Formats: sequence, structure tokens, C-alpha cells
Amino acid sequence: MAKKKRKRKFKRIVKIFLGLLIVIVLVLLYLNINNKDIILKNDLTIELGSDIKVSDIIESSKYKVINKEDKIDTSKLGNKEITIKYKKNNKNNSYIVKIKIIDSEKPVISTEEEINVTIGSNAKIEDMIDVSDNSGDDIDISIDGDYDLKKKGEYQVTIIATDSSGNKSSKKVKINVLDNLDYNADGSLIDGIYTTNKGYTVKIQNGVASINDIIIVNKTYSLPSTYTPKKPYKSIAGRGYCTDCMEDFVVEAFLKMKDDASREGLKLWVGSGFRSYDTQKMLYNNYVNKDGKEAADTYSARAGYSEHQSGLCFDLNSDSDAFTNTKEGKWVNDNAYKYGFVIRFPKNKEEYTGYEYESWHLRYVGEELAKKLYNNGDWISLEEYFGITSKYPD
Ligand SMILES: [Zn+2]
Repeated sequence: MAKKKRKRKFKRIVKIFLGLLIVIVLVLLYLNINNKDIILKNDLTIELGSDIKVSDIIESSKYKVINKEDKIDTSKLGNKEITIKYKKNNKNNSYIVKIKIIDSEKPVISTEEEINVTIGSNAKIEDMIDVSDNSGDDIDISIDGDYDLKKKGEYQVTIIATDSSGNKSSKKVKINVLDNLDYNADGSLIDGIYTTNKGYTVKIQNGVASINDIIIVNKTYSLPSTYTPKKPYKSIAGRGYCTDCMEDFVVEAFLKMKDDASREGLKLWVGSGFRSYDTQKMLYNNYVNKDGKEAADTYSARAGYSEHQSGLCFDLNSDSDAFTNTKEGKWVNDNAYKYGFVIRFPKNKEEYTGYEYESWHLRYVGEELAKKLYNNGDWISLEEYFGITSKYPD
């Protein structure tokens, strides 16, 4: 009997001991999982693109965190593991923490309140909406409301932009379906989207017309009086004209062409490059005083309608008919396209360009388009190619 009792007592002690052991193991596991060495902040969801360091996700720490100054990459949405490195009892320890990068910022619609489109345009309104977002992902754009690009009129619609996290923003805009492009009282173009008779889309933004990012300046498409080259090769700094302050890529292409020409014993130089609105105004008025308006319009541009104001073109050497049959003139006619330049006013194309032949006036359009316009020596004008006019507004 006594033996049995002792045995039972022993069994109980073993049971209690085992129970305690399990509790201790569980407590240790719990402590390990929760890592009391480092206490994290409650909220580990972080806004996309925010500027945070490892120390920003730690509430408190008993030990020295080694990488607390490290930046956390918040450029991508979703779950992310961050390793916190710290020193405990002179030993390196690390602790892996899961954070979540979220996006709660709405896209920003920056389109103007009115969108102008020419009647019958095949332009997609969705493509004309300017929208930006912190995610960098594609933004879904939809249009709420009815409109008909084949019918002249005004249509009130709502643009809805949704980002990849489902954040939405909306803006009410008016779509104006018009007969033709329109001008402000000062002669500058009103922003809008127009379709040419060759099916190209002319986008007028901040008063500047472009087709496939090629800026268009002629008697139909003016530049705002304040327009100057965006990134001039040399600073314009108050100069009304300069031969080295066209857009940098224009000057660089010219210098390459000039070098190649000089290797063949030919001399090329820029006779006239950038001309400001005011300079062109003065030049044109002088020509009108000398030859009359009708004659002046055939060879000189009115202020705002000169390509020279864009910083995308220049006149070579003597900028006169004498240039055409020089060695340089002939070489330029056959080779300029290789450097991205076109003869902007080709021979016998006055009805399209609105200007007499100018063998010396080169316009930069990039090598791809220049080759098409060169057309194996049978020049096509920019106006014919895109199906646009070059006529002063009435
Ligand atoms: Zn010129």
C-alpha cells in the first residue's frame, strides 16, 4: 500500500514538472516570437513612396539597433520583410519584421476644364487626359456622360481616374466639338486636339502645336509670344537672336553635320538661329515697310509664326538663293536628312508651306522623319506629310 502511494506521489511530481516545463517552453517561445528586445510600432502599414528609416517602425528597444538609420524602400506596393539588426550582450542579433506598403493617395487629374476637339476627330478623349499618380502604375481613365465627336456641340462629362489600388478621383470637364482650331484675341492658339486630313492628331498644349511630339510652326500654327527654346545649347539670357542658343540637340546635330562636311572640304555655319518674338516683329515690319505686306508674307514670317522662335531651325551660310548651287548647298540638300534635318521649304512646295523655296533653312525633325521627308531627293514638305495647312488666320 505504502509503496503504491509513493509511486503515485512520484507520478504527480513528474506530471507537475512536465507541466511546468511545457509552460516555460511556451513562455520562451512566446517571448521569442514577440521579441521583447524590440518593440514595434502598432501600425506597420506604410504609405507608398514615403521617406522612412528602420528607426521609424520601432517603438522602443532595449538594445542598440545597428541599422536604425537604414532607409526602407517604399517604392513598391505589397508586403515586405525588414531585418532589424541589433546588438545584445555583445552579440549580433536580427529580427525580421513584416510591413505592408499601401497606396491611399488619389490620382491627380490636371486636364483643363474644357477639351477642344475638331468635328469627326478620331482622337480618343481618354488619351487626352493628363493624369499623374504616386504609384507610377497605369491609371485607368473612364468618361461618365455622353458625347459625340461627329456632332458639333458642347458636352458636359466627368472624367474618372482610378489607380491600381482603387483610389479614385474625378473632374467635370466640357468637351467642345468644333469646326476648326481656334485662336485667342492676341493670335495665340487655343489648346485642343485636332485631327488632320491625313489622320494625324495635332495636340495644342499651352498654345504650342505638335504632332507626335514634333512641334509645328507655320502660318496656321503660331507660338505664344513668350515661347523660347526649352533647353538652349547656350543661354539666351535676354538675347533677341543668337546662332548658338537653339535647342541643344539641334546644335549638337548641326555640329556633327558641320564636322562631316568639313572633312569633305565644305564650310557650314549658322547665319541665323534663334530669333525671339520681338526680333521677328521688328524684322517683319522692316520688310513690310520696304516691300509691302503681300510680298513680305511670301518670304518673312509674322511675329509668332516664325519657326526661328522655336529654336528648332536655322539658316545656313549666306541664307540666300546664292547658297542653293554652291558645293555646300548641294551637299546639304543630299545629306542633311542623315543628321535629322529637313529642307523646311522645299522647291515647288509653296502652296503647302506658304513660303518660297529656301535651300538654306533647315529644321530639325529627327532622323526617322527627316529620311521620310527627304524621300530619296524628292522632298516632301512637313505640311503635305501630316496633312496640315499653312495659312494665316483671317
Ligand atoms: Zn530661316
